[in-house]
Amino acid sequence: MSTTYDAIVIGTGQAGPFLTQRLTGAGMKVAIIERKLFGGTCVNTGCIPTKTMVASAYAAHMVRRAGDFGVMTDGAARVDMKRVKSRKDAISEHSRSGVENWLRGMANCTVYQGHGRLESAQEVRVGPETLRADRIFINVGGRAMLPQMPGMEAVPYFTNSSIMDVDFLPRHLAIIGGGSIGLEFAQMYRRFGSEVTVIETGPHLARHEDEDVSTAIEGILEQEGVEVRLNATCIRLSRRGEEIAAHVDCVAGDREVSGSHVLLAAGRRPNTDDLGLEEAGVAVDEHGYIAVDDQLRTSVPGIWALGDCNGKGGFTHTAFNDAEIVAANLLDHDLRKVSDRIPAYALYIDPPLGRAGLTEKEIRRSGRPALIGRRPMTKVGRAVEKGETQGFMKIMVDAGTHEILGAAILGTGGDEAIHSILDVMYARAPYTVIQRAMHIHPTVSELIPTMLGELEPLGDEAGASR
Ligand SMILES: Cc1cc2nc3c(=O)[nH]c(=O)nc-3n(C[C@H](O)[C@H](O)[C@H](O)COP(=O)(O)OP(=O)(O)OC[C@H]3O[C@@H](n4cnc5c(N)ncnc54)[C@H](O)[C@@H]3O)c2cc1C
Repeated sequence: MSTTYDAIVIGTGQAGPFLTQRLTGAGMKVAIIERKLFGGTCVNTGCIPTKTMVASAYAAHMVRRAGDFGVMTDGAARVDMKRVKSRKDAISEHSRSGVENWLRGMANCTVYQGHGRLESAQEVRVGPETLRADRIFINVGGRAMLPQMPGMEAVPYFTNSSIMDVDFLPRHLAIIGGGSIGLEFAQMYRRFGSEVTVIETGPHLARHEDEDVSTAIEGILEQEGVEVRLNATCIRLSRRGEEIAAHVDCVAGDREVSGSHVLLAAGRRPNTDDLGLEEAGVAVDEHGYIAVDDQLRTSVPGIWALGDCNGKGGFTHTAFNDAEIVAANLLDHDLRKVSDRIPAYALYIDPPLGRAGLTEKEIRRSGRPALIGRRPMTKVGRAVEKGETQGFMKIMVDAGTHEILGAAILGTGGDEAIHSILDVMYARAPYTVIQRAMHIHPTVSELIPTMLGELEPLGDEAGASR
């Protein structure tokens, strides 16, 4: 016996609930399945809890810097990790229950709790029940990738999920992986008071960024006392009494980093390994991501894949945008495509990095004639006034069309200010639109027109690391 729906949604992350609302709103009877925590990664172990903790870490940092602003505090800042955690838990829980209550109260929507598994192209098994629908939407997200190395089974380690339960201060946190997740935890725990070492295989942290951006990030973290080990691959973990030793393969520096705790932040993998994709005939790529076309249709008609599991994004905003694209195509006769979107994201160290479009190195590689403008945050009044002058911003434009190709703002307010550039990129307007606009003083954004007034030819590779 199976229950028939118009649509089945597997996963309640950043795409599933919104899509369910659109489908039920269009009169469809929808089943949505969640195996663990409503709201998925972003709400429970990703964006929301980490940014909540980044805010606590910023407060600790500002208390330590209070004297710089003429504010005198008596005694050193002390971070109460139990209170940091309970603030984080409360904010996550509010969001999680918001998603759950929203879905449970949604007309035409039935919520199932359990692991959903495809049994065919129209059937999904959840616990003892079989659900049937002509349309299935997979929004199963991803989880931390665990690098397989000797010693893993013998030592305790954290992932981005298990570290959410920490309510104490690790004496020394060794972080394996210098990408966005590792770096956010690195600065945060350093500010809480831990010693922190980041072990990164590549020659730079945040390795997808331009070298000038990565180098500035390294400087920001090192200035706060985070130890950064580059060109160092962790090959083995072992116990050293109370400590955990990470053995590294490196050309310089110690071959062993010992810490009281280890965080594995070496990437993510999709939750597609126990989903019955083979039973339904849904194709995946060599990393397990579900193969989709520009409208997020899988290899099987009637099955779509949205969010982190399709490998097309890796962010909350890309997952949500996936849901908008699918809903627009299915319900609105509005041909929206994944390829219409412009890459954009932020890295939430402090100061944050806001990014839009191509990197400088991608533009150089493409060979297209381009212009570049740069400005250090020391020349941004708002940053000077706030006493937050680390970082810089840069923008690249097409030398012929004057369209903006990409930008990076590593500096105070960079995660917000980048949107003034991003929106003009979506409008496909020339950069002169921003240059001629009157911006508000004093803001970070007001210096973008100034930077655009100082564009120079991008030049050859030699000029890249200025
Ligand atoms: C530490 C960290 C910080 C991050 N910070 C940011 C940030 O600042 N900004 C940003 O944009 N992104 C950030 N991300 C990424 C962001 O969290 C994800 O890109 C986003 O949550 C992806 O949403 P999703 O809907 O694809 O999947 P998820 O949010 O992972 O949701 C998938 C859901 O499906 C459920 N599920 C899985 N398999 C099944 C099954 N078989 N049956 C039933 N249910 C199932 C899961 O339990 C989960 O609830 C961060 C990630 C991490 C780990």
